[in-house]
Amino acid sequence: MTPPVLKPEYEALVSAWAELADSGIVRLSSLPAGEEELLHAVIERPGAPLVAISAGVHGDEPAGPSALLQVVREGLPEEFSYALWPCTNPAGYRMGTRRNGGGRDINRSYGGEMTAESRAVADSWPSRTPILALDLHEDPETTAFYCYERIAVGEHRAADLVERLESAGIPIQHDLREVDLGLSSEEAGRLGLWRLERGWVRSLGHDPGAIIGGSPYSVWAASHGVPHSFTFESPGLGAWETRVGALVLAVRTALHFTSRE
Ligand SMILES: [Zn+2]
Repeated sequence: MTPPVLKPEYEALVSAWAELADSGIVRLSSLPAGEEELLHAVIERPGAPLVAISAGVHGDEPAGPSALLQVVREGLPEEFSYALWPCTNPAGYRMGTRRNGGGRDINRSYGGEMTAESRAVADSWPSRTPILALDLHEDPETTAFYCYERIAVGEHRAADLVERLESAGIPIQHDLREVDLGLSSEEAGRLGLWRLERGWVRSLGHDPGAIIGGSPYSVWAASHGVPHSFTFESPGLGAWETRVGALVLAVRTALHFTSRE
């Protein structure tokens, strides 16, 4: 079944971010990335801890860029500063493909031979370390939400986050053994990569780069000192409103938890 495609054109995303910049809501720049340019938006509030949010690294997961645009339009909590990458795979977004224009998975290029896109994100990485990194994805094969959480110290919050989304009517993929995560749960556990929980994946801290063909953004962020990250996976087979709404609520819930730590 192919879900209806309701994603905005890439150029419409660019215009929407330019409007936010014109209104003084974000400071916007354009990062050269090979033949593409990546949007980069900053909301700086002096003294406020920094949160990094990225979206659209897989071009066939278009709800992420729409969700990030929506949360910024509706207003982000004022107690944080933000470094935002609204769509880190413009070519894939236009083509509707997971990979970039050169046929590479950008989210496996944070380490080893980087892509122009991952290099652009790395080069624009803020000089002070974010306290939280969020990465907005979809799973094109699922009808329900799940997420990955990686935390260096303190309590995992994903179980509470998933419960919050479920109580808001978002379908949750409780049994992740049915989902293709690239490796079987036994293999991932044996290699110390992750452990499956109810509706979320506990990332265990080892770099899966060598096993799954290159480092993802979340592992790279952790190696740059980010103590806490979530990778959200919206249900790509759901209704467009659910796909976007799940990510919007996940971002807001993660920020809410962070503000209370
Ligand atoms: Zn993805």
